[in-house]
Parts: sequence; C-alpha cells; structure tokens
Amino acid sequence: MSKNYRSELIFLFGNPVDDNPTGAMMEAAFAACNLNYRYITVKVTEEGFDAAMNGIKQMNIKGLNFTMPHKEKAVRYMDKLSPAAKIIGAINTCYYEDGKLVGDNTDGKGFIQALAEKGYSPNGKKIFILGSGGAAKAIATECALAGAQKITIANRTVEKAQNLSHVISTQTKCKAEAVCFTPELVIPEDTDILINATSIGLAPASDKRPDIDYDSIKKGMVVSDVVFCPADSLFLKAARERGAVCVNGLGMLVCQGVLAFELWTKIKAPQAVMAEILAREMN
Ligand code: NDP
Repeated sequence: MSKNYRSELIFLFGNPVDDNPTGAMMEAAFAACNLNYRYITVKVTEEGFDAAMNGIKQMNIKGLNFTMPHKEKAVRYMDKLSPAAKIIGAINTCYYEDGKLVGDNTDGKGFIQALAEKGYSPNGKKIFILGSGGAAKAIATECALAGAQKITIANRTVEKAQNLSHVISTQTKCKAEAVCFTPELVIPEDTDILINATSIGLAPASDKRPDIDYDSIKKGMVVSDVVFCPADSLFLKAARERGAVCVNGLGMLVCQGVLAFELWTKIKAPQAVMAEILAREMN
C-alpha cells in the first residue's frame, strides 16, 4: 500500500483567537480515533477574511470553524446552509457534502444536546432567554425548531430582543416576545427553562452574575448558563440554591464540538475525551 503523508485539514478562523482551546480538544479527539487530521487555529483579520476564504477553497480541506468576528460574513461563502443557519444568519462550522460547502451553526444544537444529556427537551416548554447576541440567537432558533411553546427574550438593548423575537415568530412556528432586561428582572413563574445567554460572569469577570430577582427562580426550573469559564458560574450557583436543575456552558461547548467533529469526519466523536481535555484547558 502506498504511504500517505498528507493530513486532512480543519481550520479555525478568528481574531482574537490565541486563547481559544478548541484546537486542543479537536487534536485529542482526532488522536483518540486514529485519524490523520490536523486542526489549525489561524488568526484571520476582518480585512484578510476574503483572501483567506478564497485560499482554503483551493486546499482540499475537510472543513472549518468560525469564531468572532467572522460568523456572519462566512455565510456568503457557503453553497448551502442548514435550516437553523439560514434563520440565525451566522455559522460557526462548515463541512463538505457532495462537493458543496455547507454552513451550520452547532452552538444552539450543542445547547439542545447538553440539555438532552440531563434528560430535558425544549419541546412544548416555555423558555426565558437573557441576552440577544450570537449565542442567544442560536439557542432561541434551535429551541423554536425543537418545538418550544413560547420563548421570551430579555435584553438590555431591547431593540435586539425585538428583532430576534420577530425572526423567531415569523420564521418558525414558535411564539416569541421581547422584554427589556431591567435590574432585578423577575422571571415568570411558569418558565420551564431559563438561560443566561449573555456574557455576564465570563472569566475574568467571574464575580458577576445577571441582575435578576433570584427568588423568582422556582424549584425544579431548568437553568442553564452559556458561560463556560467558570463552568459553575455564580448564576448557576444561585439557581441551584433555589432548587433549580442546572446545565452548565461547558457541556454545551463540548456538545457543539462533538457535532462539528462528526460533520467533518462522519464518525462518532469521542465525547468523554473531548470533555476531559476542555475541562483541563479551562483550569
Ligand atoms: P454577543 O456579544 O453577541 O452578545 C452578548 C450579549 O450579552 C448581548 O445580548 C448583551 O446585551 C449582553 N450583555 C453583555 N453584558 C451585559 C450586561 N452587563 N448587562 C446586560 N446584558 C449584557 O456575545 P455572544 O452571544 O457571542 O456570547 C455570549 C456568551 O456566550 C459569551 O460568554 C460566550 O463565551 C458564550 N458562548 C458559549 C458557548 C458555549 O458553547 N457554551 C457558545 C457560544 C458563546 P446588549 O445587546 O444590550 O449589549
């Protein structure tokens, strides 16, 4: 048999990107599966993005991850988009299918999978989301596509919550409404799933938590945080004290990576290895 010295390539394009630990997780996953794949983390500026994308189209790569500030701009390089990516208008992953470059957004799907691993689903549920940025958009869209009954979106800049609720109401079957994220915000009693999709509490500002009325969190409510560093955020700690079931952002981060790995390699991802490496890198 002839030798093959060529590795299959996956790139991550972002800026800043130096402290992104995804490469460590993916390289460990490829090694665990004996795959001759390499995950290359590349600093690509906004000005350099078009040239970088034209370059990779000639390099026979398997796929890419996109992070800040490229998630929206990357959409126009795709031959095809997943239904969620079409609604979200932003992608974090792309892969080849029948020679076509397909864009997807695994953030929201990662959230749904992390929830499923705890035995919960958004189907038929009333969901309350804090934030209206990229993570909130991806989560709201996937929850709506997964059959959520109603989604309420609270944001400091209320116009962004209104835009997102309009997109959800008009492009999915789910009802959505926007509210302003005012101090000591009361979470409606009938909320099934509460999600912090803001960046509040992310290290190094891990002494911060969203300004809500924590006593409005009811026993048995499912409470999730997208913040993954620290994994056990002050928001989750306070929710747990009120008897909530907590789902942390590290689980979502691992799950979105698992989904991307499987889109590139078409084999089952070694999730336990990926979770272990990420937890180690976060420490
Ligand atoms: P964006 O910058 O797009 O959105 C940030 C959101 O947080 C906005 O809604 C913003 O409100 C809100 N916000 C920030 N600071 C405050 C504050 N002091 N008070 C009230 N609202 C505030 O970021 P992303 O959506 O891309 O990321 C959000 C978080 O999700 C980050 O911590 C990121 O690391 C995490 N993330 C986690 C993932 C995972 O797999 N666990 C995946 C993707 C992201 P406003 O619009 O008013 O500015």
